[in-house]
Amino acid sequence: MDLFPYVHIGDQGPLVAFISDSVTKGCSAVLESGTGTGKTVCSIVGALEASLGSGRKTVFLTRTKSQQRQVLRELRAISSKERVFGMAVQGRSASNCPMMAEDPELAIGTSEELSRLCSEYKKEKDGVCGCSHYGNMASADLGALLEYCRDFMPDPEAFSSHCMDLGICPYEAAKLMLPQADLVTAPYSFVLMPRILRHFLDWLGAPLGEIVIIADEAHNLPEYLREVMTHEYTMGALDLCEREAGEWDDPELRDGLSVSDLTSAMGECMAEAAREYVIEDDGILPPNFLEDEMMYRLGASSLALGSMYRKLTELGAMVSDHKRSLRKLPRSYMGSLGRFLLEWTSAEDDIYVKLVTGGKNPGFLSYCLDPAPAAEPFRSCHSSIHMSGTLEPLSEYAEELGLDDAVCRRFESPYPKENLLVLRTDDVSTRFSDMHADPDNVRRIQEYLVGVVGSVHRSTAVFFPSYGMMDRFLEDGIPERLGRDIVFERRGMPHSDLMDCVERFRSSPGSVIFAVAGGRVSEGLDFPGKDLELAVLVGMPYPRPTARQEALVRYYDYRFGRGWDRAVATPTERRMRQAIGRLIRSGTDRGAAVILDGRVASAKGIASVPTSDPSGEVERFFSRG
Ligand code: SF4
Repeated sequence: MDLFPYVHIGDQGPLVAFISDSVTKGCSAVLESGTGTGKTVCSIVGALEASLGSGRKTVFLTRTKSQQRQVLRELRAISSKERVFGMAVQGRSASNCPMMAEDPELAIGTSEELSRLCSEYKKEKDGVCGCSHYGNMASADLGALLEYCRDFMPDPEAFSSHCMDLGICPYEAAKLMLPQADLVTAPYSFVLMPRILRHFLDWLGAPLGEIVIIADEAHNLPEYLREVMTHEYTMGALDLCEREAGEWDDPELRDGLSVSDLTSAMGECMAEAAREYVIEDDGILPPNFLEDEMMYRLGASSLALGSMYRKLTELGAMVSDHKRSLRKLPRSYMGSLGRFLLEWTSAEDDIYVKLVTGGKNPGFLSYCLDPAPAAEPFRSCHSSIHMSGTLEPLSEYAEELGLDDAVCRRFESPYPKENLLVLRTDDVSTRFSDMHADPDNVRRIQEYLVGVVGSVHRSTAVFFPSYGMMDRFLEDGIPERLGRDIVFERRGMPHSDLMDCVERFRSSPGSVIFAVAGGRVSEGLDFPGKDLELAVLVGMPYPRPTARQEALVRYYDYRFGRGWDRAVATPTERRMRQAIGRLIRSGTDRGAAVILDGRVASAKGIASVPTSDPSGEVERFFSRG
């Protein structure tokens, strides 16, 4: 069966065969696939060619909605050759539900909370379903809906508005289509959050062993998987818990101790830990710090504390049930504190580090150091495909995720190498000591930046290693010296604001965008053609040397050796390669990147040319085009 819908270019034939063979053998495939290799269409074709007719289903995991749309576009192209059927599913959100969309409180609801609220809406009253959109499902022509989905493979937004026109629930309708689909594209969480995975498999109507998983942008996965198993609780949440306890007459937990006794003790522990152990951002706690302090402050044994924490979760369930019955967000802060404390006490010491975080809203953090446990679905499914344009070193990635059966391979970009110029300046760096001990270092970086940006009137991205560094350059008046239209990616910027800002940048040729390496602009967005031709990387975007980061380095050292290389250097190089990768999105794109940090000379995956005249080199490069 040949499903490939286009004329092959470059290594696309071998790429499809590599994936198809891996799926046939039932092993994991880990691949780095450069820009223009067509990894999305190749992976879909490879997985489907090895799965159609076998009863297996393919799940394509993406990080963004635009990647889901691309998966559907490729499926439509494949379908013009051989009919296949794919669906996109997205996490539950209030904005997707006609019953919840108008209530602003529900906009912050998690999918679990909204799911519980949905079951309340669906309850029947006097024989009538409380949610008309759900009630209408019984009489809807689901066969016609399935045909519509097969014929058009609509984007999630189009599917949603089609369902709204039919008066039925888009979320419930999508679930009913999934058993018929050959491929389903979903967010990472559908497979990597155990609670969601159970439901998802039910909807698919297939066991995990019959699923082929494709994970796109897999360079994000190690950190994502660590976060899945990480637990955090802050002082702000504790205040909300105390307030909630007050609204419920401060319930007793055990032996005369009430919820407010527990929250007071916890608040004191948090304040003391922040005072004693935070150095800059965070600090590692001594073994059993929280357990011992809580026993001391509450005069309770560890067994008694355990039963108090369980009681707290029971109270939380009661509160959230009550809120649900009132059709309010079924959230309980007592419940979340109880769950956090149970998770904190049961976290295995060998893969967790217990931290206190500082700042205006201090908190406790039980940080999971090992991505492998949460990667279990990749090991239990039929076959998993992990791909990214920046995944090297591949064997290290496979080892980190515990993919013992992985086959690894790199596929080069078919685009002309000479279309990309990567320069570096060796006499500057953003190393902490250089930034502070050599005042002239910063001045030289800024001179290079102003000179390079001013050397050509091309659309330019300036990638900073952190928002803090960007702020410093703003304070030093760099935007004024550049004298160009500049837009800014800001910390925590809402997605819609960021897209407005990117649109302004795209629609104004020769303008400049200030962004951070590793942020949404440098990783998730496409800038084809002249939308972006020049990138300046201000320094190496190493993670801050926090206690958490140091614990990760030590853990990787102990598990694999070369901890700093794996936990610091490799993710930093991937971030830089992602940023540089924004420049070349087609075979005719040309672009120049200037890295203002000599340390990149030793980076394994980034070939750069040293220069003391980056603006002259950039000018000459573009004058040749
Ligand atoms: S069934 Fe659908 S429309 Fe009805 S409440 Fe649940 S999510 Fe909303």
